[in-house]
Amino acid sequence: MLTDLAAACRKSGLPVTEIDGWRTRGHGSLSAVETIACHHTATPKSAAGDYPSLRVVRDGRSDLPGPLSQLGLGRDGTVYVIAAGVAYHAGATFTTAQDNWHAIGIEAEHDGVSPWPPAQYAAYVRLVAALCEHYGLAPARALGHKEIATPKGRKIDPNFDMIQFRSDVTREIANLRALRRKPIRRTLRKITTAIQQAKADGYTGLADALKKNRERARKNHAR
Ligand SMILES: [Zn+2]
Repeated sequence: MLTDLAAACRKSGLPVTEIDGWRTRGHGSLSAVETIACHHTATPKSAAGDYPSLRVVRDGRSDLPGPLSQLGLGRDGTVYVIAAGVAYHAGATFTTAQDNWHAIGIEAEHDGVSPWPPAQYAAYVRLVAALCEHYGLAPARALGHKEIATPKGRKIDPNFDMIQFRSDVTREIANLRALRRKPIRRTLRKITTAIQQAKADGYTGLADALKKNRERARKNHAR
């Protein structure tokens, strides 16, 4: 079970709501995480609340038992963690790497017709970027249901341009990495100041030791 899923989602910086029982919910465990599958719920706009599709995504429909997706994305960009196990979101796919045993599904609350609220689209990009980073996937592994479903044309979701989406995800991954590097930059600057001070005071041995420490810190971070 993907019991690290909530932690992975929190790396996006988005608000995360854990739905009771998510850690043990699923049709067994995934074999591996090889795809992030993007969906929209096609729930009418008139349905009230941030994530009115929660019940059906968690519990399923009369013809398909839940969970129907591991994750939900609300209208305001809140992430709902629903299941750590296999969810029935993909159906028949072109490759094994895209199927329900290898793909994390995200069901975003959207009617499939209206323009996407910019905040929700931005949240979608950030969530997928965080998941790609956490599970070591290239942005090319973020695919729309419409791209993986067979036969071709069986699904239309999500109704935005996936090529643009993946390019947005790529940019967001670079942003996430830059954010992570910030604290180490501050630390390295402090060590450099200390080296200069040690040299100015004539403590060359100390300056050399600090230089070695700075190198070690750099290497550890790059790992
Ligand atoms: Zn779908």
